Amino acid sequence: MTAAHPTETALRLETDAAEKVRRGHPWIWRRGGDVASSGAVVRLEDARGQLVLGRGIYDAGSPIAARVWTVGADPLDDALVRERLARAFALRATLFADGTTTAYRLLNGEGDRTPGWVIDRYGEIAIVRTDGDGARVHLERHAAILEEALRGIGITSAMLRVPNRVNRGAAPERVELFGPPPPALVQVREHGVPFEVDLGAGQKTGAFLDQRENRRRVGLLGAGKRVLNLFSYAGGFSLHAALAGATTTSVDIASHAHKTAQASFKLAGVESRGHAFVAADAFAFLEDAKKKGKRWDLVVSDPPSFAPSEKNKSRALAAYRQLHKACAGVLEDGGTFCAASCSSHVTADDFADTLDDAALGRSDLRLLEMHGNPADHPTLPGFPEGRYLKFFVLT
Ligand code: SAH
Repeated sequence: MTAAHPTETALRLETDAAEKVRRGHPWIWRRGGDVASSGAVVRLEDARGQLVLGRGIYDAGSPIAARVWTVGADPLDDALVRERLARAFALRATLFADGTTTAYRLLNGEGDRTPGWVIDRYGEIAIVRTDGDGARVHLERHAAILEEALRGIGITSAMLRVPNRVNRGAAPERVELFGPPPPALVQVREHGVPFEVDLGAGQKTGAFLDQRENRRRVGLLGAGKRVLNLFSYAGGFSLHAALAGATTTSVDIASHAHKTAQASFKLAGVESRGHAFVAADAFAFLEDAKKKGKRWDLVVSDPPSFAPSEKNKSRALAAYRQLHKACAGVLEDGGTFCAASCSSHVTADDFADTLDDAALGRSDLRLLEMHGNPADHPTLPGFPEGRYLKFFVLT
């Protein structure tokens, strides 16, 4: 059994940090040396130590010194964790009540007021991710509560995936939380469309679940058209379009991603003949296609984050402009361009700037739709960092 919580350490906050907590921002940036070990519960106090502002989980040695779980006097105990999980799972039960989608985000960290804890569901399997050592210690402390909550919604296996913080390219560490080890490949459905997900070698927790609604959108917009899907990964945009009668070209630098995509095409009963899977650098592909005069009616661009930190932002914006110009260069007159960004440092307005007439080198496109995080990836109004996803439709 877990204790209510270990001994608390006080963490005094300067006025500006205290104000951010009051507004619901869940991160306390490090100022000075460590005051506790990772996973310790910290009691957040005002600068004079007179007022309790809330409670958080400490992360030793990290730029984010603590993640805030409660605001005000509430204790950070088992009952609170149980309640937060129940609330998050109840939301998804409503969102996915029709049963046509079996892979979705069950718990979205800060956005579900469970900072540092992320859980994705793939059918009966849960893949858990923690951000920071503190979140991991806190999660392991509540492993029994988590298991009970997940089993209660039909999850039979859960695995913790810990990204390698030192070497970003290295494979994540995997720790079984409960149940039999999940298979490397699982089959799920998104709006009724079957997908194969590579839990073994795949990126993120296996799939980019945040683009689900946009994949469906591309199925509608691309029906019967020539669709170019850049940075295609497991081919989700292509498959939705292919099922609507499009001919598709999927481009990704990772050839193993195409294998997963082709398996999903097969699963959905789409002949992969007539659909191209190109293992290439998207920039080089676009340059070559332009030279050859190739054109598509719908172009999707969904690159990896170009701005991993605020420092790289201006370089990232220049890279988006360059990419968008190259996409506009192969877009048929009257065509549709879907441009995405998953960089949290790039705001929606910043992103719109990378799609202006000068960036695209043409002056015929209008911005029709601006989509953000889907409902299973909720965010907090006071935490703009959570709203990382942009998906803009121009035509
Ligand atoms: N659109 C996908 C997610 C894309 S993730 C979906 O809906 O699931 C980004 C992808 O870009 C990764 O699969 C990665 O392999 C690929 N990638 C990264 N750099 C690339 C490059 N220079 N050219 C082509 N693909 C690239």
